[in-house]
Amino acid sequence: MIDPTLFPATLRAPNLDQPLKPDKGLFNGSCNRRACQQPGATFWNPSTRAHYCRSCAGKINHANPEFPQWRLVDVAVRNESGQVTGRKDDDGNGG
Ligand SMILES: [Zn+2]
Repeated sequence: MIDPTLFPATLRAPNLDQPLKPDKGLFNGSCNRRACQQPGATFWNPSTRAHYCRSCAGKINHANPEFPQWRLVDVAVRNESGQVTGRKDDDGNGG
């Protein structure tokens, strides 16, 4: 197996081979898009069963208008300050 750390960063496509974060795809963790992995992923993707950031969710929803059942929705419950306090459990994910 090739060790990717042996290759200089300049030879890699930007962000595409960044290490996977342990909370990737988890609720309020890192965005499930490998090239993104931004924190605060609260948009549930029912087709991949993972969470994405707002930016990626918008792009994915825009790219798949013919599949409304796959639309990513923000499942975060927030308090008055906008802080995430929980997750809506309306997708059958089992909590
Ligand atoms: Zn993202």
